[in-house]
Amino acid sequence: MSGPVASGDAAQPGTWPALPPWLAPTAAALAAQRDRWTHAWLIEGQRGVGKRALALDLARTLVCEARRADGRACGACPGCVWAAAGQHPDLRLVEPVDIDDEGRATPVDAIRIDAVRALTQWAQVSSHRRGAKVAVIVPAERMNGAAANALLKTLEEPPAGTYLLLVAHQSARLPATVASRCRRLAVGRPDAGEARRWLAAQEVADAGTLLAQAGGAPYVALALADAALQAERSAWLAALARPEALSPVALAARVELGGREERRDRLAAALDWLLGWTADLARLAAGGDVRANPDQEDALRTLAAKVARISLFRYHRQVLAQRSLLTHPLQPRLVAELLLADYRALF
Ligand SMILES: [Zn+2]
Repeated sequence: MSGPVASGDAAQPGTWPALPPWLAPTAAALAAQRDRWTHAWLIEGQRGVGKRALALDLARTLVCEARRADGRACGACPGCVWAAAGQHPDLRLVEPVDIDDEGRATPVDAIRIDAVRALTQWAQVSSHRRGAKVAVIVPAERMNGAAANALLKTLEEPPAGTYLLLVAHQSARLPATVASRCRRLAVGRPDAGEARRWLAAQEVADAGTLLAQAGGAPYVALALADAALQAERSAWLAALARPEALSPVALAARVELGGREERRDRLAAALDWLLGWTADLARLAAGGDVRANPDQEDALRTLAAKVARISLFRYHRQVLAQRSLLTHPLQPRLVAELLLADYRALF
């Protein structure tokens, strides 16, 4: 780790995320009661709704040296300028990445104890700018057990003026000892119209379809708006649409490209498609509507008429379980192959 900001892409100048419009009212309400903020926050909600951007916005509010009358950061003082450049010495971002000597970041499985120890030591040093010190941990549930334990003392007795902002996609995975010491702030999905307008402003075409695939989470939809990824999705869904012709070996081989991280990402994407697909089948079989894959409704309807509902529910749970174990898939190709063989057996 190097530099005043521990790790993560917000450490790079120019990549400080803008607060999305649907979180502006939340940020404004919080800024207005800034003097009553607690020292530890748990910002929770589904992945891709803007929790990280909100946490960084709150962090900026804390390190601003000339807050506006409404409590928001001014954007122009030295504190704001340093924060925007990812260089504020009293602001730390901790994410599950390793930073090499040249400053390149590689995603890793967990936030480890050395990162949290560095954070707690940093918290003991007095503020460089004589103001607040803020640490943002994203996603907090990726702290391994030792790391979470190492954070406890700072959570219990934070040095004066120190704030810890924990962001969690799955807050139930946080140890109760950690979660119970934080004030909870739930962040929900924006309404579909607002999310579509935001995606359109990011030059995303077909925002409605992507948003459906993303379960309504705009940042997930934005990540899905990648031509190569959409082509891969098409290949998977075309194969799932014809279980009688599906070759688990051939389809599973598609996750095998690239290095370890890339294989894991490819498996994660495939499992998400499989989950969305089987959830849509289950909804149709129960008389409901397609939600995740509105562009595939005809194929889904044909299959839903043939599938045994109980087996389908059981299968969907099996895929969900695999998805939650994904941080350590030993053999991504084998995992995919077994799930696809079971999928084929449903029909
Ligand atoms: Zn400022």
